[in-house]
Amino acid sequence: MKKTLVLGAGGFIGGHLVKHLKSKGHYVRGVDLVPHAYSDLPADDFVIGDLRDPQVVATVVDQGVDEIYQLAADMGGAGYIFTGDNDADVMHNSALINLNVAHEAVKKQAGKVFYSSSACMYPEYNQLDPDNPKCSEESAYPANPDSEYGWEKLFSERLYLSFMRNYNLNVRIARFHNIFGPEGSWNNGKEKAPAALCRKVAETASGGAIDVWGDGKQTRSFLYIDECIEAVMRLMESDFIGPVNIGSEEMVSINQFAEMIIGLSGKDISIENIPGPEGVRGRNSDNALIFEKLGWKPTQPLQVGLEKTYNWISAKVAAKETDQ
Ligand code: NAD
Repeated sequence: MKKTLVLGAGGFIGGHLVKHLKSKGHYVRGVDLVPHAYSDLPADDFVIGDLRDPQVVATVVDQGVDEIYQLAADMGGAGYIFTGDNDADVMHNSALINLNVAHEAVKKQAGKVFYSSSACMYPEYNQLDPDNPKCSEESAYPANPDSEYGWEKLFSERLYLSFMRNYNLNVRIARFHNIFGPEGSWNNGKEKAPAALCRKVAETASGGAIDVWGDGKQTRSFLYIDECIEAVMRLMESDFIGPVNIGSEEMVSINQFAEMIIGLSGKDISIENIPGPEGVRGRNSDNALIFEKLGWKPTQPLQVGLEKTYNWISAKVAAKETDQ
């Protein structure tokens, strides 16, 4: 039985990963500051702990653990990472976690470490044209991410790669592009665009309007959580180290994306574009490298995952639940 450790298991992707690893019959220990808010996770062991504390990391990383999935980060959507208000915390907290994990993984001779980087590390100058963003892996340098969140991701990619070169740490690094799905933040200030827009639509009656930040012409792609987990598994099972994009190439404008959600709701809702934090003008995954190395690409259109996500969030809204 493979022994696995999921850091950030109380979060959106970590929670889904715990369920997947358990379904494959592995032993899973999850660690997070908080229990999972939306799911009773099947982890064999779930430790509530602060990974900024080296003592906690020393306690949760067992000698010879087979696989560590490092997803813990101080992060949120545009309203959290692009306002500037949380920059110091984002950099300090996430860097401390990664410094501790890299150190302890070497000390305990971990078999393999997965690190979740982000498309936010790509330089802003390649993402100014919403119709032609460039996010191929080699375009990362010269670096110029548009947020401190992106700079920390870049630092930590390099941290893990340097631990690989100097201490033989066996790492795999992915750059996630907007992963979405049920069982993630939707109303606690850390929700990202898909969940926030689903919530706004679910909360609005027919004939009403929803606010969408920016002029709505900014572009993004979104990858459903199940596809993300499959790509992570393939990366971990391969000899390919990365960094590699894990995302979708189905690029939409934010207003088109909001229209898709409105369509799913069956309501007559209009869009009001208002000023707000929005990040780069255009972003899309470039999947050439991951397809070449792992033969992976998304299997379903955006609409399919979006419907599942909208249904989950509208049920939450209907039940007037809150995760705050
Ligand atoms: P999330 O916020 O739902 O999960 C992160 C978890 O880390 C949270 O449960 C949080 O409590 C935990 N955490 C934060 N600080 C901690 C600490 N000091 N000690 C212990 N746990 C701590 O985010 P997510 O969407 O599941 O993302 C997982 C990872 O993937 C993150 O590293 C994120 O930066 C990266 N990523 C996500 C996306 C996306 O679209 N969701 C895109 C790019 C990168």
